[in-house]
Amino acid sequence: MTPWWSTASIRVQLTAWYAVVLSLMLVVYATATFVAVRHEFLEQFDDQLHGDFEAAEGFLTPAGDGRIAWFGDRHHDPDNDEDRGSDVWLASGEQVYRSGASASLPPVALAATTAQPRYESLVANGRPWRTLTGTSLVGGRAVVLRVSRAETRLRTQLWEVLVVLVFGLPVVVVLAGVGGYLLARRALTPIDHLASEARRITAERLHERLSVPNQHDEIGRLAAVINDAFARLESSFDKLRRFTADASHELRTPLSVIRGIGEAGLGETRTPAEYKEAMGSMLEEVDRLTNLVDTLLRLSHGDAGTVRLSRSAIDLGQLTREVVSSLGILAEERNQRVTVDAADGISVTADRLVLREAITNVLDNAIKYSAQASSISIRVYADRNQAHLSVADEGPGIAPSDRQRIFDRFFRIDEARSRDHGGAGLGLAIAKWAVEVNDGRISVEDGAKVGSVFRIVIPITPPSLRSSHECATQETEK
Ligand code: ADP
Repeated sequence: MTPWWSTASIRVQLTAWYAVVLSLMLVVYATATFVAVRHEFLEQFDDQLHGDFEAAEGFLTPAGDGRIAWFGDRHHDPDNDEDRGSDVWLASGEQVYRSGASASLPPVALAATTAQPRYESLVANGRPWRTLTGTSLVGGRAVVLRVSRAETRLRTQLWEVLVVLVFGLPVVVVLAGVGGYLLARRALTPIDHLASEARRITAERLHERLSVPNQHDEIGRLAAVINDAFARLESSFDKLRRFTADASHELRTPLSVIRGIGEAGLGETRTPAEYKEAMGSMLEEVDRLTNLVDTLLRLSHGDAGTVRLSRSAIDLGQLTREVVSSLGILAEERNQRVTVDAADGISVTADRLVLREAITNVLDNAIKYSAQASSISIRVYADRNQAHLSVADEGPGIAPSDRQRIFDRFFRIDEARSRDHGGAGLGLAIAKWAVEVNDGRISVEDGAKVGSVFRIVIPITPPSLRSSHECATQETEK
């Protein structure tokens, strides 16, 4: 069963907790107060009794006939005071004096009385009394003296204190609870406000932001964090929208070409050679489409983190030479000179196929975008714990403003030129993903004189790990 507090609003939960804690604290405080007050009242009461005892001793005087006489209080007549009494006995048991108030009290056990005064509480005729009994010497004769006070008024006073504490406590708790609720409501209202503002921001209104009245308080910081989340969401949505639009555009172009070729082929009767040529063109476009769809799928797997990587220690120089020899034919066709200066034994931990794809894309671009008969120089070297692979070309170079964007999906500096080379603007996006998933980074800078230099930097595998060829098989993480 769900506890009630888990379904109640925070302000109700806060108020309830506040009231419970406050009640417990007040109960402890009230109990301690009552015990202290009671102790103090009883002590004062006993002090008054002691005063009565000393006063009564002063009222006893030896009379001329050898007896002991009681000369009452000048200010207070014990015979007319119902709450205070005095009794005096001789050691022989003869009562010397008895006040009216103490008439109901039982006689003192004279034999048990000592010089040490003794306090006692007793009930006589339903009334509570406090007595102080002790011995005293009057004119050389020992007497037993007992003074008594009715506790009725004391008890009434204590009762009043208790009533105030017991009935005051719930009143205080209720008032504090109401105050706590109002405070909690006041403190939490901005959160309700934030929630209703946040609810208003739908996918279509992602550019809107929550208002931040005071950015230094907790609510302000919360609103700022939510706004940051909205900003990231908006940028992801934008990227997704652009990606979908660009992808549809790229897919539509080869489809329109295929349709065009098909319609032209069906329009009039053609020779078998012409049909063959048309079908060849169609297949080229289909290849282009297949490549595009494969690349998009790979990128989306990369985004979802579902690409299985098989990471192992790889000799970066050797891998680079492999790529150069497989793309060498393209450079030869363009009469370009590719030089490789790769130190041996620079080992990185990476997925061979994925890293190979990154190097292939960068080198392929250098070949595609550089002029005929130009030079491309590749270097692989170690710098501290990092392996560097640089590909320098003598092409048109990349303007500083485009250096980040060329790694975006579908971004092409010169649309027409790039499309001529068959590029959809995805090569560097794939290269960036492939390098980063292998813990590296990719960047571009100006060439020494002309062109651009693409640089891939990957941490070098520590020698201790190189022996184990297959390091790990893992899924990429986003
Ligand atoms: P594409 O598939 O169009 O080649 P890429 O993602 O590989 O797409 O590259 C993005 C854009 O960056 C290219 O369209 C091109 O304009 C530019 N680019 C990439 N490499 C080079 C280079 N070596 N020299 C000049 N421009 C380049």
